[in-house]
Amino acid sequence: MAKSLPKPIFASFLKQRRGRHNLDKPTADAIAHAVRIWAMDRGATHFTHWFQPQTGTTAEKHDAFLSLVTNFTPGGEETTPIDLFSGSQLLQSEPDASSFPSGGMRTTFEARGYTIWDTSSSMFVQDGPNGTSILYIPSVFISYNGDALDEKTVLLRSNEVLSRAACDLINLLEPEAHVNHVYTTLGTEQEFFLVDRNMYSLRPDLKITGRTLVGQLPPRHQQLEDHYFGRIPTRVMRTISELELECLRLGVPIKTRHNEVAPAQFEVAPIFEEASVAVDHNLLTMDVLHKVAHRHNLRVLYHEKPYKGVNGSGKHCNWAIATDRGENLLDPTVRPETNYRFIIFLLAVLRGLEQHAPLLRVAISSSSNEHRLGAQEAPPGIISAFLGDQLNEVLDAIEQNRPIKNFSVPQFQSIKVGGTVLDVKVAGLPHIARDLTDRNRTSPFAFTGNKFEFRAVGSKQSPSFPVTVLNCAVTAAIGEITQALKEQTGDKPRPSTEDKLAVIRKFIKLTKPVRFEGDNYSEEWVKEAEARGLPNIKSAPEAFTYLKKPEHVEMLTKTTGIFTENELDSRYYILNERYAKDILIEAETLKTIIGQQVLPAAFEYRKTLAESAAALKTAGVETAPEVDALNELAPLVSALQKEYKKLSDVIVEFCDAHTEDANVHAQLAYKNVVPVIASVRDASDALEVVIADKYWPLPKYTELLLTV
Ligand code: ADP
Ligand code: MG
Repeated sequence: MAKSLPKPIFASFLKQRRGRHNLDKPTADAIAHAVRIWAMDRGATHFTHWFQPQTGTTAEKHDAFLSLVTNFTPGGEETTPIDLFSGSQLLQSEPDASSFPSGGMRTTFEARGYTIWDTSSSMFVQDGPNGTSILYIPSVFISYNGDALDEKTVLLRSNEVLSRAACDLINLLEPEAHVNHVYTTLGTEQEFFLVDRNMYSLRPDLKITGRTLVGQLPPRHQQLEDHYFGRIPTRVMRTISELELECLRLGVPIKTRHNEVAPAQFEVAPIFEEASVAVDHNLLTMDVLHKVAHRHNLRVLYHEKPYKGVNGSGKHCNWAIATDRGENLLDPTVRPETNYRFIIFLLAVLRGLEQHAPLLRVAISSSSNEHRLGAQEAPPGIISAFLGDQLNEVLDAIEQNRPIKNFSVPQFQSIKVGGTVLDVKVAGLPHIARDLTDRNRTSPFAFTGNKFEFRAVGSKQSPSFPVTVLNCAVTAAIGEITQALKEQTGDKPRPSTEDKLAVIRKFIKLTKPVRFEGDNYSEEWVKEAEARGLPNIKSAPEAFTYLKKPEHVEMLTKTTGIFTENELDSRYYILNERYAKDILIEAETLKTIIGQQVLPAAFEYRKTLAESAAALKTAGVETAPEVDALNELAPLVSALQKEYKKLSDVIVEFCDAHTEDANVHAQLAYKNVVPVIASVRDASDALEVVIADKYWPLPKYTELLLTV
């Protein structure tokens, strides 16, 4: 923009971006004109406002630059097609809001919705068909009344309030700092599975629900621990490399790629960026990967648990807070024990977590992520924070007002090859600096050096809502700490070291319950968390009820002002409704697969066995092995048929249940339908191992997992 816009126009755009100026019509028109030229140079014929309704994906509606201009002349009229793109087309568009989830807001308000250009995220051009391309304009989506209908509006609001709260706190701590703007940073580690598209196309469950509803693990899957960081298969390497190149062209900085724990599971991660941009870029990456994989005859599975029995996929959200001068407020620096600003911000994050952990649980809850949370692979439903030995020691020492134990400056510590007892130096291996913290892979929310890593986020979901909720909770906590500091400081111009320490001590005590360094997967932790009063939220529908609890509503609405009560109600409704719909779709898909594929295959195989047993008997063979096979098979078929009947009944029952409260419906899905889906699966999987392979109607796990 700096290159193609007249200087005053660009200056005015920058002012608007910093919130000091509204975009006037001449500026908008000038920008639109420059953007159109730029995009058309890159083959663009169309433009679209690109936004994020509450469906977990993005939405776009393309319009051509084409306009018809009619000139009236004395001899008649002449119509000419020309390319046009006005400032108002750039700024806003008006899709019909009524076909997007709105959680009931459209029944009380108008159906009209607006998409508005989000100037904080760069526009981009993506390839379209026949050598053309499309101009994408990142946008927010709001209702006629200004209610957020999307994921982005609330994220941008949360950035804004967090910035204000953090600036107030910094300026109180260090009046000379002059920090004007603070923002959160986000780096998303995206995990996913790839599957051969031919196999995929034969699995209705994968196509419809994103996960396998039946299927037995092959004898070898992930137990040899040889896939993680293994050599990336050639076809996958080509795919990821193509993804990286396309992403680079779109301004998305992908940096890391590797094999994940399960067979056919992989990860890519970008360099972190400002959170709202990082969210856009994550969604864009997911979309591009989807397209690129298609070209390599692969299909991406973003579902959190496509295969039972192997590792699921997450989207670790690495999150920190930075100032407009590029400082990371969560950087402990060399001496965290005297870096009070760091400690105070660290405590703000812990306080946010301690007060509003259930909201973080809400933000990651979906029917698909449920399969991952609580299993021995992903952080469980109890939200706690891991800090590592040294930061814990810093906090403990301050709390107890004693010197710090065993704490040498970390950069001078090195790992000695051979351990500390055998101090051998192997020639050729350099001494290296050790990290401040070891890794704890079991914590849902871990401090990793200079950022927190929120690991419970699902691979399929947009990172937007989890980051929004985190921003909100931390903003509220920053406000509380600022207030406490002001009270402590009294009339003095700035807080003394003792004032800071007093407040720090207070918040160390308050946030203690949420700190946990041990194994989050252990039974003991479940018991201890209960004793500490931490909620252990076992299901998504249970989590959603926390969106109605006064202390959380108060924080999200009055304290931080991120949501209106209407918006919260609508979210509550959308989340519950989505959960119930997802489960029903799974149930109906499973019913079709069992009724139309698995049972018919079982009948056929049973018939073959029965016929050959009969024929052998006629021929005088008394003890044919076919009889044993038949005897083994028959009860398994009956068992599956019984489960199938249960499933059909429970679907009818569920569809007939009318309730006012969407949560009641979601709870019904969880309590009544989910267990039947699981038991049908068990019955089908038991059959899979006894039916001759050529009768089995679906590609098996071996083909799905071991064919990339
Ligand atoms: P891991 O070792 O946890 O698998 P990765 O290298 O895969 O780590 O990913 C770490 C992610 O954290 C990257 O996306 C990286 O850019 C991001 N990150 C690093 N520093 C920050 C920060 N200050 N704020 C937000 N994200 C960060
Ligand atoms: Mg990683």
